[in-house]
This record gives sequence, structure tokens and C-alpha cells, in this order.
Amino acid sequence: MSTRRSFLKQSAVIIGGLAVSQTFGGSLYLSKKTKVVIIGAGFAGLAAAYQLHKKKIPFVILEARNRIGGRVYSFEADPAEKLVVELGAEWVGKSHERIISLCDEFKLELLNNQFDTRLLYKGKYHPGGDWDFSEPWKAKWKSILENYHHLAAADKLKLDKYDWWRYLVNNGCTGMDLDIKELLDSTDFGESIRHISAFAALSEYAESSEKNEMDYKIKGGNGKLAEMMADKIGRENILTSYKVKKIRQTGNVEITCENGETFTAAKLICTAPTFAAMKIDWQPGLPADMLNAMKQLQYARINKHPVLFSQRFWKDESFDMITDMPAHYIYHGTKNQPSQKGVLISYTIGDKAAVVANQNNEWNGRTVLETLEPGFGDITPLMEKQFNYYWGQDEYSMGAYAMYGTGQWFGLRPTLQRPFLHTHFAGEHLADWQGFMEGAINTGEEAAARIV
Ligand SMILES: Cc1cc2nc3c(=O)[nH]c(=O)nc-3n(C[C@H](O)[C@H](O)[C@H](O)COP(=O)(O)OP(=O)(O)OC[C@H]3O[C@@H](n4cnc5c(N)ncnc54)[C@H](O)[C@@H]3O)c2cc1C
Repeated sequence: MSTRRSFLKQSAVIIGGLAVSQTFGGSLYLSKKTKVVIIGAGFAGLAAAYQLHKKKIPFVILEARNRIGGRVYSFEADPAEKLVVELGAEWVGKSHERIISLCDEFKLELLNNQFDTRLLYKGKYHPGGDWDFSEPWKAKWKSILENYHHLAAADKLKLDKYDWWRYLVNNGCTGMDLDIKELLDSTDFGESIRHISAFAALSEYAESSEKNEMDYKIKGGNGKLAEMMADKIGRENILTSYKVKKIRQTGNVEITCENGETFTAAKLICTAPTFAAMKIDWQPGLPADMLNAMKQLQYARINKHPVLFSQRFWKDESFDMITDMPAHYIYHGTKNQPSQKGVLISYTIGDKAAVVANQNNEWNGRTVLETLEPGFGDITPLMEKQFNYYWGQDEYSMGAYAMYGTGQWFGLRPTLQRPFLHTHFAGEHLADWQGFMEGAINTGEEAAARIV
């Protein structure tokens, strides 16, 4: 258990070992017959399906939404200018090997999506490069990251008991350093860092690329990868607007959708986020400890508010800005998409996201303009259109991604990763790269490998 990643790999091997001893139950087809049913056409479900397709194992994906991609949601903010923004997942990380390799395979170009972060703090605008952490904190942070690689298993378990804010304070982070760490890191985790397991946070930073995996974006939108995978595996094998309501596991698995259709399979891969998985009527019921873990796990609240401007007044394509204002984090959502027009996205988290989501466009637009004012003056006449998407109340995830709180990384995750009868679980929430598209793909592929 030397790293977060090797720990996960070990547990995957153990789970894989158990799965090998389970065999398919012969001819199991009752109504719509297939060998594997996959719940969810997000990246986990599509990646699982792609592996099964390669092995010529028949499958069907049942997706509740009327679109594929799940929490990857590319949206045309200006169809005439072909400006695409991400309402869900934004960045592909340099360390995210599988997604990079899939993009390579499908000839999807990865564009640089790194930013040169400005700061608006206590009313003062700091252009990129004009602000930094204090020298003592920078030195301490360097030593914390170096030290991570020498932590013993027991140290990691202990770390999981702290929240990230407490851990930073205990290590001498104070004043402006602490304020900025809260603003930046809460953007990563989607809630205040007072709620995040210190192990989940430290392991992510210690094992991430220099820009914390905020490195690339797929040209044309991250959703292109979902489209390519869907084409490859056969669109006829993906049924959208098929919401699973009931799962009955006996000698086989019988899956019933809200529209009354039933599918029978030997194996099930469930990639639904825990909120959605819990709403399904499982027969027999989910094991008590698994249900309890699902009841405890929270998902981070993120709101995205893209604003289309008639000119890119921010000039620098790599513009982003972290702020202590209600708009929280503002970044250029159309970097490297040629046009005079451009989109800035206000990205809010936690309580701020919940507040922003309840306001109208007028309030949100004004908030974005006020936040930009110290750096750019009054740019009201340049504002053309605005949109909003709040993940905190998304019907199928109730949040952007899972948020492991104190004690939960080691306390809940292993329980949620376990298979249950013919069902294997997958999805971002179970991944080593938890909270990322990469993690979703990894868990989907691992679930398929267990079945194969
Ligand atoms: C705002 C935001 C920002 C993000 N930023 C990044 C980022 O910068 N980089 C990054 O790598 N990742 C990011 N992510 C995370 C990334 O989007 C997820 O990790 C990943 O897409 C999750 O994929 P998944 O397949 O596990 O789950 P999902 O994409 O949620 O797929 C699960 C699917 O199951 C379906 N489903 C649920 N219940 C049922 C049911 N009963 N019947 C049938 N279907 C059902 C859902 O509709 C959904 O389509 C972000 C996410 C959000 C929301």
C-alpha cells in the first residue's frame, strides 16, 4: 500500500480473483436476452461496453437520460460560431493514461487547457504571476508532498481521519495562504475542504501532474469520446430513456425498466452513482453494509454558469481567475476555439453553488460582471447570453462527483467496490482516480475484465 494507486490495484486484483470463481449460469435468457446488461452510458458504462465488444460478448446498455455521456456534457453555447463548453467534466489530466490512449485510438485531438491563474482577493485584482503563496508555506508544502511517498499504511489510515482544512492548519498554513488553499482546493473537490478527507486530498495532489491534472480538453468537446465509443460498440446496443427500476438476482439477473421492459442477463454492471443505485428496487436487497455506505457517501455540489461575450476582452486564451467572491472561480471555457466571441464560466462549489443555482440569470450575470470589474472595468455591453447547470440537484447523481469525507476513503470505498451476486459496480466514485473521467473509464474496464 505504498500509494493510493497501488492500493486500488491490489483491491482490484482481489475482487477480480473472487469473480473468476463465479460462472455464467448456462442458458439464462427469458425475455430480451443478452449476456451482460450495463446500467449507465457514462464513461464507465461505455468503457465497460467497449471491452465486452472487443471480446464479442453480447451486452446492452440501459441509460435513463435521453443522451449518452452522463456527467460528461458538452454543450454548444453558440452554434453559429461552433463554440462548445463543458457543463460537466472539463479537464483531461496528463497522468490520465487510458483516456489519452482512447483519444489516440479514435484520433481525437487533445488541446492544451492549462491556465495562468489570476487572483481577486479582498477586492484587489492580481494578474497572473503577480501573486504567490508565502515562502515559508511553499517550503512546507514541498516537504509535505515529498514526505507523502514515505508514509506507511498506518499513517495513511490516520490521515483519513482528518479533514483537509484541519490538516493544513495543523501544518502551519494560515492567513492568505489558507484562504487561497481553501479557494483553489475546494474547486477540485467541489465542497469546502473542511469536508474532505485529508488522505483523499493529499494523495491526489502528491500523485498528480504539475497542474493537478488540469491539462487538456478534447477538441470539439469531451463528449466526442462518448460519441466515438458509442459508434464503435454499435448504437443499437445503447437504449436511452431506459431507466432501471428493479433488479432481481436469482440464477440470473432480471432488470426491469420504468417503461415496463425487462431484460435478462447472466451479469450486470451497474455504473449508476450511489444516489441513483439506491433508488433501484434490489431483490434481494443490497447488503446492509453496502446500503449503509451508499447512504453515507455524499456528492459535491457544483454549479456552472457559462456567459457568452461578444469579444474576448480578457485577451489571454489561458485566462482564469480564483476569487473570494460568490462567483468563486471564473475560467475561459472556449480556449483554443477560434472566434471573436468567447465564453467565461463561473464555477461555484458547495454552499455557494447552492445559492447561485437558486438565483435567476440577471443576478448571476451581475455577479459575474462585478467579479470581473476590478480587472476589466464595466464589460456589461459585451455580455450576449448565459446558461446555467446545477449538478447538486441532477436527478441521477445529486452532485458532480463523490466526496469522500473524514474516515470514508478507507471506511466506505472498499465496501462499495464489492460485487453483489451477479452485479459488478463501476463508476467514478469507486476509482483510484476518483472524481475524474479517467477513474470512470478505469472502473468500467475493470468490471468488464472481471466478467470476461
Ligand atoms: C461539474 C463537473 C465537473 C467535472 N470536472 C471534471 C474534470 O475536469 N475532469 C475529469 O476528469 N472529470 C471531471 N468531472 C467528473 C466526471 O464527469 C466523472 O468522473 C465521470 O464522467 C463519471 O462517469 P461515470 O460513468 O462514473 O458516471 P456517469 O457519467 O454519471 O454515468 C452514469 C450513468 O448512469 C445513468 N443512470 C443512473 N441511474 C440510472 C438508472 N436507474 N437506470 C439507467 N441509467 C441510470 C446516468 O444517467 C448516467 O448517465 C466533473 C464532473 C462534473 C459534474
